[in-house]
Amino acid sequence: MARCSEYFMRLSSGYLFPEVARRTKAWQEKHPGRSILRLGIGNTTEALPPFIVTAMKHKLDLLSDRATYTGYGDEQGDAPLREAICGRYSAYGVNLKMNEVFVSDGAKSDAANIQAIFSSDSIIAVQDPSYPVYVDSNVASGHTGCWNEGKAGYDGIVYMPAYADTGFVAEPPKEHADLIYLCFPNNPTGAVATKEQLKLFVDYALEHKSVIIFDAAYSDYIKTPGIPHTIYEIEGAERCAIELNSFSKYAGFTGIRLGWTIVPEALEAENSPAGLLNRLWNRRQCTFFNGASNVSQAGGIAALSPEGRKECLALVDYYQTNARIIKEGLERKGLICYGGVDSPYVWAACPDNLSSWEFFDLLLDKASVVVTPGSGFGPAGEGYVRVSAYGHREDVEKAVKSIEENI
Ligand SMILES: *Cc1c(COP(=O)(O)O)cnc(C)c1O
Repeated sequence: MARCSEYFMRLSSGYLFPEVARRTKAWQEKHPGRSILRLGIGNTTEALPPFIVTAMKHKLDLLSDRATYTGYGDEQGDAPLREAICGRYSAYGVNLKMNEVFVSDGAKSDAANIQAIFSSDSIIAVQDPSYPVYVDSNVASGHTGCWNEGKAGYDGIVYMPAYADTGFVAEPPKEHADLIYLCFPNNPTGAVATKEQLKLFVDYALEHKSVIIFDAAYSDYIKTPGIPHTIYEIEGAERCAIELNSFSKYAGFTGIRLGWTIVPEALEAENSPAGLLNRLWNRRQCTFFNGASNVSQAGGIAALSPEGRKECLALVDYYQTNARIIKEGLERKGLICYGGVDSPYVWAACPDNLSSWEFFDLLLDKASVVVTPGSGFGPAGEGYVRVSAYGHREDVEKAVKSIEENI
């Protein structure tokens, strides 16, 4: 008799975004005449940059002719794209080899899959709050205990709480952890980590022979000088860190799908000499994955060219201006806000000791604005909401105005 996975059944039922959708729908049914202003989900909204569109159309032309048609490519990604990714890192003084770059269909799947090359009894540490996939993928794979209602988290996970007093950058855990998930600029808080803050984690990982899984999906949103764009700017990180990145938020590829993972040859773990984890990830990709779309990869190469880069950074600027409009509007209302500078997310403290869901309901009810309750990202997110800058400018302005007038 087939049985479903007991580990999947451990996933706590209230997955954040479906619950947001449920409450939004219920409100809409009660208020049929009013339109909803969405500052909730982190999904891009603006058109693809034209230079990248041209490159993808050209790729389709090549595929339309049997003389230039190509089928499966290398599982690791097309060589010109991997070279372009190496070029991107060398701009930050980081020298990678092509075989350390693994192109994928996005950073979310890599974030979920990367644990497969580590022992199933690995102790997981996550920043709290954090992007849900790090925790949920480990729960679903049986690397944690069960949901613990009392601590609003899972047993067996080391939560590293990040609060305002440290700029929402956690400190390395006191106890031992094997795999440490970090994300900077951070989703949901919009925080960035300094070199000194990241160095504490690199030092911890080298000392404990742990591995950091560093999600850099928003690195191109960094504007503040001196903030590292990649974990490999920290000395020694190539021995203890894997980095994930994505074209989703940089090039508007949320629907096109393209990302990459860096597994350095120098990466080591307790029973894994340098080179082994790189080979295992290569093996994993060749076995379970057949490569990213070749049309997406043509777009990725264009996105990393000088012309494409200019257009993508203009797109990033557009969302960052939205973030500034949101932050300034909320601050005029007296709300205490974080993030929104090197990030498309503003992390706003709920006023009057409201909980995340209470403030969510208030914003929806009074201003018809949908945000994301911070508590959905982990216990330390309670008392905050995430306000996303992904939206058309006119809609963002409408939402901010509605908050200013109605709250
Ligand atoms: C959006 C996002 C990603 C990107 O995921 P893709 O699968 O590449 O679209 C990765 N990490 C974080 C934290 C994100 O917010």
